[in-house]
Amino acid sequence: MYAVKANPSPDLIRTLWDSGITHFDVASIAEVRLVRGLLPHATLCFMHPIKGEEAIREAYAVHGVRTFSLDSLDELAKIVAATDGATDLTLCVRLRVSSAHSKLSLASKFGIAADEAGPLLMATRQVADALGICFHVGSQAMSPQAYGDALGQVRAAIVAAGVTVDIVDVGGGFPSIYPGMEPGALESYFEVIHRAYEALPISYSAELWCEPGRALSAEYASLLVRVEARKGDVLYINDGAYGALFDAAHVGWRFPVELVREETSHARTMEFSFWGPTCDDMDFMRGPFALPADVQAGDMIEIGMLGAYGCAMRTGFNGFTAGDTVIATDEPMDSVYGVTQESSENVIPLRKLK
Ligand SMILES: *Cc1c(COP(=O)(O)O)cnc(C)c1O
Repeated sequence: MYAVKANPSPDLIRTLWDSGITHFDVASIAEVRLVRGLLPHATLCFMHPIKGEEAIREAYAVHGVRTFSLDSLDELAKIVAATDGATDLTLCVRLRVSSAHSKLSLASKFGIAADEAGPLLMATRQVADALGICFHVGSQAMSPQAYGDALGQVRAAIVAAGVTVDIVDVGGGFPSIYPGMEPGALESYFEVIHRAYEALPISYSAELWCEPGRALSAEYASLLVRVEARKGDVLYINDGAYGALFDAAHVGWRFPVELVREETSHARTMEFSFWGPTCDDMDFMRGPFALPADVQAGDMIEIGMLGAYGCAMRTGFNGFTAGDTVIATDEPMDSVYGVTQESSENVIPLRKLK
């Protein structure tokens, strides 16, 4: 599945569909409607453990959603009520697992502890056509061990409950690559997952699922900003903490940058921080961002790897709403897939878009 919240761009969703992704992890009724409107034949899985009853009802009755996640008996009752006791449901119980290996935690909010999950797994088994167990190790998991440890928890939960499990869903968290955050090969993650999965007490017909957001979208988009002013090693740019640079401002995430000029700069490289366009001090991206020392007002900067949780986070605060979106074909600034499209005829160098 692709986790739509990372980047709900219709162009990306269609690109993923054309590349063979047929299942989509949606978390709100707006995401359900969006993907259903774009892809009438996609399979939608409503993987938010806490949903509005009317959202479940519409997803089930209008949009053909059959897969839902939950982490409590109350949510199970809500799903049963909202689907009028449907017998064709795939229900995934969300386990609480550690986010210790990840850059962004998802450990506190959702999930039931493995040693408390027995009654919920048994009750869910009673009403589900297919029973799954899911978890999320936190976003940008920097070690495959995150999945090995979590699958150990899945094992404990299955043994304690003694239920037949049809689906194990290892969630998202698969890393992309950013300055100072270079993960190992994705294959090493898949190896750990397959090994731990093979050791689970589940039937041969069980399915292994995952729901990456970041890893499938990070390379998809860059942000092009203009330098409005420069004061020493700080650049005032026209997007920021309330725009696509939320993570750069609020959790100190770093992104690759490149000066976009007709003529390549030969100045030495120096480190800059960025102020965003709004009127408050929180709109600050410390970086450091390495750029040629002669960068000046009027220059354009490409900030790369912003396909995940970039444009998805934009607000209209202070009137600095989303700029133009241009669909182009260009290489990502970095890649965890080891592929580039250098030779493609469709590549439009960003400086030509300016
Ligand atoms: C956010 C989220 C994802 C995607 O996480 P990434 O770290 O972007 O891969 C997948 N599943 C659920 C339930 C989520 O909340």
